[in-house]
Amino acid sequence: MIRTRFAPSPTGYMHVGNLRTALFSYLIAKKNNGKFILRIEDTDQKRFLNDSKDFIFKTLKQAGLKYDEGPDIGGEFGPYIQSERKEIYLYFADKLLKDKKAFYCFCKANNKDKNICRCEELDDNEINKKILSRESYVIRQKIFCGTTKFVDLIYGEITINNTELDKQILIKSDGFATYNFANVIDDHLMKITHVVRGCEYLSSTPKYNLLYNFFNWEIPKYIHLPLILNNNGEKLSKRHGSVSFEDLINQGFLPEAIINYIAFLGWSPDDNTKELFYLNELEKIFDIKKISRSPAIFDIKKITWMNGQHIKKLPEEIFLNFSRKYLESKIDDKNIDIKKLAKFSQTRINFINQAGELFDFLNKIKNYSIDLFKREKIKCDLYISNLVLKNSLEIFCIIEKEDWNEKNLKEKILKLIDKLNLKSRQVFWPIRVALSGQENSPCGAIEIAEILKKTETINRIKIAIDKINIK
Ligand code: GLU
Repeated sequence: MIRTRFAPSPTGYMHVGNLRTALFSYLIAKKNNGKFILRIEDTDQKRFLNDSKDFIFKTLKQAGLKYDEGPDIGGEFGPYIQSERKEIYLYFADKLLKDKKAFYCFCKANNKDKNICRCEELDDNEINKKILSRESYVIRQKIFCGTTKFVDLIYGEITINNTELDKQILIKSDGFATYNFANVIDDHLMKITHVVRGCEYLSSTPKYNLLYNFFNWEIPKYIHLPLILNNNGEKLSKRHGSVSFEDLINQGFLPEAIINYIAFLGWSPDDNTKELFYLNELEKIFDIKKISRSPAIFDIKKITWMNGQHIKKLPEEIFLNFSRKYLESKIDDKNIDIKKLAKFSQTRINFINQAGELFDFLNKIKNYSIDLFKREKIKCDLYISNLVLKNSLEIFCIIEKEDWNEKNLKEKILKLIDKLNLKSRQVFWPIRVALSGQENSPCGAIEIAEILKKTETINRIKIAIDKINIK
């Protein structure tokens, strides 16, 4: 059975790149009826805050990436938090020491120059003496001559001369394992079949493979994911604006839109005409073979568009729930049917909070230019506008307040179109401009009139007539 894992460090935020790793790892498992495991890599004790773990659980839930095993839900191969696995790593480090595949290194912590360190040559007596006199030490991996070859499912065959590999630290002076050691032990013990992670780990992978070989363990399949760049070709980083899941959520992106967009960062479906997918659809079609090795570009415009598409697809009542507070903030009259406003805005916005802005004109009409009435394309000019507005004013004045509804208003205006012998566009345009003060509005003249009610409609028509000022 395929088993994949997501192994974040609890940094307190979820970078888009990490989320992409989680998503691809999840999809590979789901596509193959496998299991997706969450493991927290908190070996660097100083750096991590405690509640960052909860943050990871929460984010994955919000993104819909349900894991089958993990720190908060348990599983057969726990614990799933590296800081709780200290003894396991020490046990395996000890094994390597005994087999002469690792060595104690007493050099000062900052001595990174692998050529200077002679600790490998110390004999058991010297080592024991140093340990007894409480000299601090780390445990390093031995690197033997030869070459290391492996296949990455994305980057292909990679061969490296072992002289290029450093004798990396496996156990630090505080007794904690490094990520470099722990990831190998854990992936093996947790029976991970496919290791999915960012390509920044590609160059360390030969060292991990040497460890697998030392232990005589089967090497997992590797899937290293391409870099994610911004539009300027730079690595996507915090300095260039929002790059984390929570930033995007705070900006008004829907989780399903983020997931949809992120799926395309380095992957594409067979049918490249379709772009909108939900997670459950991706689970069925995701294919490792279609992962690319060239860097992916994070394009904020594209994800914005995609968000708009996902907003359109939201069930009406869900959209209403999301947008209600924005819409209500624009409307004094609580009798106005918010449902209707929601419907008008759902197809027109890329962010839910824009739902309110669309209706700014209801509260207050801005000082618009009379040029708006001139519209050559539909043969509308100031003269026609004046005629239409004066006639509609008469009609609006006669309609009783109780009869002020869409159906009635429409009936009357259609009659007016007939009477004036104009095209319907020539009639609707000036009324809509008069009522909204805008070139575009989320709904038409009749609908706006209905929402504004009789008094305000008449008020705005009069203002427009005055503005045009043709006697
Ligand atoms: N803890 C590593 C990170 O957050 C994970 C690398 C891996 O998946 O092996 O980048």
